[in-house]
Amino acid sequence: MKRLLTLPLLLLAAPAAAEEIGECRFSRETLSFAGTPLEQATCLLRKVELQGRKTPQKLPRAIVRLMQDGGAPSAEQKAAAIAAFQEPYRAYAASHADAPVSQTAAGLPLAYFAIHDTSTPFYENKPFPRRLDTDPGVNSFEPYLPGGIAREPVAHIFLNRHGQIWPGHEFAEGWRATKLESRVVGPAARGRFVHIETVQPRRFLPGATTRAATHGPKPGFSKAQYRQLAALYVYTSARAGRWLIPGFHATIDGGIPDAHDDPQNFDLKQFGRELERIVGAAQR
Ligand SMILES: [Zn+2]
Repeated sequence: MKRLLTLPLLLLAAPAAAEEIGECRFSRETLSFAGTPLEQATCLLRKVELQGRKTPQKLPRAIVRLMQDGGAPSAEQKAAAIAAFQEPYRAYAASHADAPVSQTAAGLPLAYFAIHDTSTPFYENKPFPRRLDTDPGVNSFEPYLPGGIAREPVAHIFLNRHGQIWPGHEFAEGWRATKLESRVVGPAARGRFVHIETVQPRRFLPGATTRAATHGPKPGFSKAQYRQLAALYVYTSARAGRWLIPGFHATIDGGIPDAHDDPQNFDLKQFGRELERIVGAAQR
């Protein structure tokens, strides 16, 4: 059914091959956003505010350096990333450390590291649980298993507030989790992005009755999540053989109708600090 619904959209979109899509100007031909890696990261890491508004923000030094210098994580940095993982994912990551990652049907390599929040559980008008980082309901992976909120896991990785990781798809599998990929460009984009779902609950904004008007908790994520997210970024970049360009779901889909508004309350500075711990501690 899904296939039948998306087909007319793809046909409509096909003639405008040279068009640039969305606020960060994605090209159907190169399957890249516009500009240098640093310019792309600057657009893709704009702060995602309530209801998907975006504001420019300064990138952490670690990200600026990686985007400017290019290259790939060293063997030491890759090892530091694996060492930073919690078990049992550490053993899983180590066993897949030399496995290839996805590429597109046209042979373009994996290039983008997409950060999401799960917006689950949804509490409607009830308050958030007091201790989000240890609450069993918030941190359960059950909603994300096949047949939960979707027929198949919606992302490659699910990361809860304890810092535990459940891999929904191996990174070798091209997967899609944005409107840009699933509704606009279609299967040609598959393999260009890895998708990380970071557990964060939601509830209605005051007076709201639709999921278009919700808010997340403040602070948005736990320290363990930033640490594991940084390790995942270095690990996937190492397996890809290049520093991936990080971005947020809402900025990747920015300018596309009904774009999502995740991740909310993402502290880019804290992510930068955790990234520095891994890439700075290991010799480059
Ligand atoms: Zn998302």
